[in-house]
Amino acid sequence: MRTRDDWQRLARAIEPRHQVFIDGSFADAADGASFDTVNPANGLVLASVARGGAVDVDRAVAAARRAFASGAWSRSAPAHRKAVLLRLADLIRSNADELALLDTLDGGKLIGDTSTVDVPGSAAILQWYAEAVDKQYGEVAPTAPGDLAIITREPLGVVGAVVPWNYPLEMAIWKLAPALAAGNSVVLKPAEESPLSALRLAELAVEAGLPDGVLNVVPGLGEEAGQALGRHPDVDAIAFTGSTAVGKLFLRYAGESNMKQVWIEAGGKSANLVFADAADLDHVADKAVFGIFGCSGQVCSANSRLLVEESIADDLLERIRVRAADLRVGDPLDPASTMGPIITAKQLERVLGYIEAGRAESGLAFGGRRLHEASGGYYVEPTAFRDVPTTAVIEREEVFGPLLAVSTFREESEAVARANASEYGLAASVFTDSLSRARRVASALRAGTVSVNTVDALDVTVPFGGVGQSGFGRDLSLHALDKFTALKTTWFAGPAAG
Ligand code: NAP
Ligand code: MG
Repeated sequence: MRTRDDWQRLARAIEPRHQVFIDGSFADAADGASFDTVNPANGLVLASVARGGAVDVDRAVAAARRAFASGAWSRSAPAHRKAVLLRLADLIRSNADELALLDTLDGGKLIGDTSTVDVPGSAAILQWYAEAVDKQYGEVAPTAPGDLAIITREPLGVVGAVVPWNYPLEMAIWKLAPALAAGNSVVLKPAEESPLSALRLAELAVEAGLPDGVLNVVPGLGEEAGQALGRHPDVDAIAFTGSTAVGKLFLRYAGESNMKQVWIEAGGKSANLVFADAADLDHVADKAVFGIFGCSGQVCSANSRLLVEESIADDLLERIRVRAADLRVGDPLDPASTMGPIITAKQLERVLGYIEAGRAESGLAFGGRRLHEASGGYYVEPTAFRDVPTTAVIEREEVFGPLLAVSTFREESEAVARANASEYGLAASVFTDSLSRARRVASALRAGTVSVNTVDALDVTVPFGGVGQSGFGRDLSLHALDKFTALKTTWFAGPAAG
């Protein structure tokens, strides 16, 4: 197994791509502007990156449109698109170390996660859509005899993808894989905190045989590049993952421009309901810890609310505390670390602010302090509060950090009502050994995904997305293709009688 020294040596050899990628080549931003991307593990500048603006977005959209109109990709045989995307999946695998390191250095994600989950997972998702795309059939409608109506799926045209920093490569792939497989051109705006892996991906896509202009990457700031994409009159759809607040902005941009389709995967405040009839509390504790402290809690579907039946609450919370104390919070390049930093100094302040709010309104169960300040990195202890009231800020708002809000219940109906009392509806978990309870509660929970006796059940084979202010539209599974295609009816009138 690689050591921290091995990874550091590999990291030193990387020369991050740092310009906008349009029509198959790298270039500076049109106005020469740049911004710094920082390593959250030490607070040091990692790279100066081109700060794409409206002019760059316009160039990227024009290149994407030209590529789409040429038909080189959009009207190529599905088997051809499959072959190219499979090559890209292979290139992701053969460049796995570099891509994993880019996300670790840029996003502060554990190298143990990026190298074994994010990067192989991204290749697998791309492969899945590549393999699916030449197995999709259209429909023939049950018209009256003589007439013939066929229903086909057409690519939309130019898709804008705007993604967050918590899974930089993977979030990009969630959008790109189905969008490209369906024949669209894409302009991707990665998060300003983590633009580097997307730029390398764009280069690999051209190497795989994707025609120039089909995938363009414009790094930059949300209010600049992101807004320009959202308002662009020649973008047909936006596929967005990020906060609810910014998701609402994209709806407004669309309404004030060309009524482009907007698909939103937004935040969450996912509840984890544990009933006393769940016999294996060690399993529950393992999952609960992973559910809130994995990726330092910076996961949209993080199980940030733990609702426990009163009779087992002390027991379960103690098991969670022991496991949290065992987490090794530290340098994400060290394979021995099991929790990394928070993404930015600003986000660290936000998380610490929520911890203060928690202290004022609830009882601190464990954690609560900033760690390793001398490193310059943005580390915080895994933290939990108990006896959290329904009205508490940490019960209602998405923290996006390693903060667990624990409360107890006596009745199943009370637990379900509390879980559903949220403006979000991304995910939920239920732990119980009763099959009938599992089915009853799962059906009553308002969420895009309900995991039973686990947390965050997620796979390319099943749709992922929310209800309520967690957004709409689904990533993953064949259903994701719905966002990137339009159904077209072609009706052939029957032959004239006679
Ligand atoms: P964010 O602030 O909403 O940013 C997401 C993307 O939107 C970034 O590329 C960002 O650019 C851009 N953006 C920001 N302000 C914009 C504006 N005014 N106009 C246009 N674009 C703008 O979210 P984040 O902080 O990166 O990520 C955390 C959020 O994402 C959380 O709420 C989390 O729950 C959610 N999330 C959801 C899912 C899901 O699948 N449901 C998955 C992961 C994360 P900048 O980087 O320049 O700000
Ligand atoms: Mg960064």
